[in-house]
Amino acid sequence: MSYTLECPYCEADLGEPDDCYEPTDHEHECHECSKSFIFGVEYERTYYPRKADCLNGGAHRYKPMIGAPVEHFAGRVRCEDCGEESRLEAKADTASGRAQRTNNNEGDDADPAR
Ligand SMILES: [Zn+2]
Ligand SMILES: [Zn+2]
Repeated sequence: MSYTLECPYCEADLGEPDDCYEPTDHEHECHECSKSFIFGVEYERTYYPRKADCLNGGAHRYKPMIGAPVEHFAGRVRCEDCGEESRLEAKADTASGRAQRTNNNEGDDADPAR
């Protein structure tokens, strides 16, 4: 493994070739010996595991999205954990769960005692 590309024919150091961001085979022509060869690229993988309770039956942790234009992102939220995007419905003042109740017939189930 080397950090720069080396010609398999003349062993010239060809530096870091452009346009090889895909981990597939690439064709390259050596500027020293003018021979073409194939090289593969390997990238080091790094993992960043984190908990995502919403994928395990928990609630999404929605955070407001910020960006430009502001109007475009107004009322849009995105789950910090799984990245799911959602839209804030007209003022749900309680956290998730009960938001669905405020449909149209307000007061219907508000106080059955009266
Ligand atoms: Zn060469
Ligand atoms: Zn989520």
